[in-house]
Amino acid sequence: MAEKQMAEPIRKIVIVGGGTAGWMTAASLIRYAEGKSIAVSLIESSKIPTIGVGEATIPNIVQFNRNLGIDEIEFVKATQATFKLGIQFENWHQQGQQFFHPFADYGLKIDQVDFHQYLHRLKASGISTNLEDYCFPAVLARYDKFAQPHPNPASPLADYSYAYHFDAGLYANFLRDFSVKLGVEHIDAEVKHTQLHPNTGFIKSLLLDNGMEIHGDLFIDCSGFKGLLIEQALETGYEYWNEWLLCDAAVAVQSERAQAPHPYTRAIAMSAGWQWRIPLQHRSGNGYIYSSQFETDANAQQTLLETIEGKAVNQPRKIIFHPGRRKKIWHKNCFAIGLSSGFLEPLESTSISLIQTAIAKLLTFFPDQSFNEHDIAEVNRLHHRELENIRDFLILHYKLTQRDDSPFWRYCKDMAIPDSLVHKINVYKSRGHIVMLDNESFKESSWLAMYNGFHITPQRFDVRAGAVEPALIKQKLDQMSHSIDKAAQQAMSHDQFIKMHCPAAIAR
Ligand SMILES: Cc1cc2nc3c(=O)[nH]c(=O)nc-3n(C[C@H](O)[C@H](O)[C@H](O)COP(=O)(O)OP(=O)(O)OC[C@H]3O[C@@H](n4cnc5c(N)ncnc54)[C@H](O)[C@@H]3O)c2cc1C
Repeated sequence: MAEKQMAEPIRKIVIVGGGTAGWMTAASLIRYAEGKSIAVSLIESSKIPTIGVGEATIPNIVQFNRNLGIDEIEFVKATQATFKLGIQFENWHQQGQQFFHPFADYGLKIDQVDFHQYLHRLKASGISTNLEDYCFPAVLARYDKFAQPHPNPASPLADYSYAYHFDAGLYANFLRDFSVKLGVEHIDAEVKHTQLHPNTGFIKSLLLDNGMEIHGDLFIDCSGFKGLLIEQALETGYEYWNEWLLCDAAVAVQSERAQAPHPYTRAIAMSAGWQWRIPLQHRSGNGYIYSSQFETDANAQQTLLETIEGKAVNQPRKIIFHPGRRKKIWHKNCFAIGLSSGFLEPLESTSISLIQTAIAKLLTFFPDQSFNEHDIAEVNRLHHRELENIRDFLILHYKLTQRDDSPFWRYCKDMAIPDSLVHKINVYKSRGHIVMLDNESFKESSWLAMYNGFHITPQRFDVRAGAVEPALIKQKLDQMSHSIDKAAQQAMSHDQFIKMHCPAAIAR
């Protein structure tokens, strides 16, 4: 029997929203559409501002830009970007203590045994070590230096990644110019009404405030928290995770650049949440993320303004959010990308990365006009797993605290957490083994950075690590940390690196 006829292909994609999500999606879809008969339109209203935050990223952004064919230097200059080797966590375990979460592994496996097992082995023999000494980017960050990974993959200085801090508005503009040049139709108008097919409930068209009616086959909702299409029109539903992720408000302010930019984001735990410090070439982004159960808006704003470095350059802005996820990111002929699909919180900078992975899923399962229900279910399943793993990783940051100086931290320490996370923590506590589930965004080394940063010592270590004499292990580790330290000291400062390779036009 002949194969069943293919359904009609998608010919018109309509994106609503011109924030980071909208333009990242537009750029990717117009690249995907090359050589095919697919038109892409993006509708955004210049009267409705974008969220205006979201300036710290994780390393997959580097590949995202590369896939689009964007020149890295041009991008860094255009977005006032700096380089990010990881996140420095301050005051999370206890006040006055800090640790670094790099985008890299630590040391190397020895005889198939994880490197950190040898550190546990030494600790059991009374020899203390510092995990971060065996990670080149962590040591670079300690000295405020930056180097790109060595081009020879065999080099010990090659095995790490980096990300960027950038000005979110400038990045959206950059991608807008890129997308429009490749053929995206840009419509500046407000969507006033979503028309649904009476029989199917699929989106038929959008009515705009300028009187236009825009038809499409596939609609991408990048309208931000409100979820104009996925929620307001299609009523897809939302799952709240605020029993574990307590922070639900933020106050954000930009400040003058007070010092040379660090090659990392600072995440500083406060009495009812945490503060971010994101260094750009021309200014810093700052914010206090807090729980409205434990902190007043006035106090949060005052705390933020009292603690930032450099003079504030705009009025502090309050942002309310609901940690959780949309029940489906793909429903009928609507795909939600960005804040419209849900938001956990900014810790670990996962939101822009989730925009990328949502785009990747859309391209992998790119529909035709039959909108196969199994494909849609698979995308929603994958997204759910991905988000649950990130959720657990974020909860870990709060749950492992030893702070008891405020009601917020006492609550976090004692709160019940998802069973999936209880299991991970218990296995690590038992034998230092890091449990990885499917579709994890954070690798073993990230979980290790947390367990180590929060001083969790396993009860036992991998017996295979016991085969080597502690003195010999220590000798090898000392050699390794010495050569890492030497290489880091020889690198350029982050500031020098930027000035030499990619200074933005108006950076001081
Ligand atoms: C406090 C905070 C800090 C964050 N920090 C980080 C971070 O460091 N790293 C990270 O990865 N992510 C971060 N995020 C998330 C990040 O900001 C977002 O993922 C990212 O900016 C994408 O937003 P968006 O494009 O989905 O929505 P928005 O920026 O809100 O854009 C919505 C767009 O929709 C348009 N629109 C809305 N309604 C209509 C309408 N009716 N008609 C036409 N157009 C309409 C608007 O004009 C706008 O263009 C943070 C978020 C918050 C709340």
